[in-house]
Amino acid sequence: MNAIDFAKAGLNGVPAAQPINHLSLYRLPWNYADNGISWLEPTTKCNLRCEGCYRDLEHPVHKSLDEVRVELELFKRLRTSDCISIAGGDPLVYPEILPLVTMIKEMGWKPIVNTNGVALTPELLRDLKKAGVYGFTFHIDTSQNRPHAKGWSETQLNAVRLQFAEMLAEVGGLSCSFNATVSETSLPELPNLVEWAREHADIVQVMVFIMFRSPSLSGAPDLRVSGRNTALDDIYKESEWGGTKAVFAKDAVAYIRSADPAYAPSAYLNGTASPDSIKWLLANRVVLNGEVMGYTSPRFMELIQTFTHLLTGAYPAYADQRSTSFGKLAAFAGSLVDKKMRGIAGKILASMARNPANIFRAAHMQSIMVIQPINVESDGTADMCDSCPDMTVHEGKLVWSCRTEELKQCGAFLTASTVVRSSLAQE
Ligand code: SF4
Repeated sequence: MNAIDFAKAGLNGVPAAQPINHLSLYRLPWNYADNGISWLEPTTKCNLRCEGCYRDLEHPVHKSLDEVRVELELFKRLRTSDCISIAGGDPLVYPEILPLVTMIKEMGWKPIVNTNGVALTPELLRDLKKAGVYGFTFHIDTSQNRPHAKGWSETQLNAVRLQFAEMLAEVGGLSCSFNATVSETSLPELPNLVEWAREHADIVQVMVFIMFRSPSLSGAPDLRVSGRNTALDDIYKESEWGGTKAVFAKDAVAYIRSADPAYAPSAYLNGTASPDSIKWLLANRVVLNGEVMGYTSPRFMELIQTFTHLLTGAYPAYADQRSTSFGKLAAFAGSLVDKKMRGIAGKILASMARNPANIFRAAHMQSIMVIQPINVESDGTADMCDSCPDMTVHEGKLVWSCRTEELKQCGAFLTASTVVRSSLAQE
C-alpha cells in the first residue's frame, strides 16, 4: 500500500500506536540555560486564524524594536542558544522584521523566521536573506483555511509547501522547515507528508509534526481552573478540527512508520511528569536520489551535538541546505561510530554501484520531528517539555511560550488539582 492509499484507508485501518523506548535513544543535552533554541515573539498580530491558536488575536500588539532588544539581552544574559525562533503572531507582518533579523544576527544567533508564509514575497525573501536570516519554519496545515487553499487536504497542501521550499531553494543557502499541527482528523494524512518530504529532501531540511491540544482533550477535562476559578477554555479554544480524541507522539510514530518502515528516532526530550513521556522526538534520515538510505543513530546525534558545542559553544538546532547535503560524508564518518551508521554507508555504496550517477549526487540529511505539547495527567500534573526549547520572555522572565496567554489573561499559570476539582463540584 503506498502512502496515498494508506491515507485513504487510514480512518479504517488505523495503525497501532508504537511504543517508544526512550532509554534506547539519546537524550538531547539541552537544558534551561544552554539550549538549541530560544523563542521571541515581537508581535501578536497574524494574518491567519489557525484552529486552536492560543494567542489573543483580537488585540494584536507590535513590540517596539527597543522592547525586543531588551528581551534579547535577557536571553543573552540567561541562556546560550544556537538560534532565535522569531514567532508571533506572524513575524512577517511585524513592521521591523528586517532590522530585527539583523539585530539577532549581530548578537550572535541564527535568526529563524517561524511564519505561515502568507506575507512572504520573493522580494521580501531576498531582503530577509540580506538582513541575515538563517532559515524559515513554515507553519502549514489544514487548521488554517489559507487564502487560495480553503478546504484543501494536508496532501493538497503539499503543493503550497513545495512553493515555499522552491522559493527558498532559488535564493539558496537557507534552512527550510515545515511545521504541521496534527489532530485526530488530519493524522491519517501524515504518511503523505512524510513521503512528500522524502521526495524533496534536497530542499526540505525538517518536517515537524506538533500534536494538537485542546481543553477537552487534555486528559483531565474537569480540571479547568486555578485558584482564581478561571475557565481554561476561555484561553484554549475548542475546535471541531481537533477531533474528539487526543493524539500523542506514539500515534504519530505509527503513521510515520506506515509511510517509512525504516523510521527510527535517535533523540528526544522527555516530559516533566515522567522520564518516559516523550515530548520532542527527533529522527534524521539520509536520502539519496529519493531513496531512504537509513536513519542516523543515537550515538551519531550525540557526536554532532557534543562536537558542535565544543566548537561553537552552542548545541545545534538548525542546519542549512548546504550542510545537510553532506549525507555521504556524515554516513562514512559515522561508520567509525557504530554499526547503524555503517549500515547507511553500506547502502549508499550499494546504491552507487547499482546506479553510478548516484556517485555524483548529494545525499541529503532530513529531520523528522514530533512534538507533543503540554498534556495534563489525571492527577492534574501538567506534563511540560523538560528543558523547553521554546522559552520566551514575559515581563522580564523566561516562561514557556505555549503558556504565556495564561500569564497575560490571568496573571498566573493555571493549575489543576483534584482539590480544585472537588471545589468545582460544589459550585
Ligand atoms: S513546553 Fe511548551 S513552549 Fe516549551 S517546547 Fe514544549 S510545547 Fe513548546
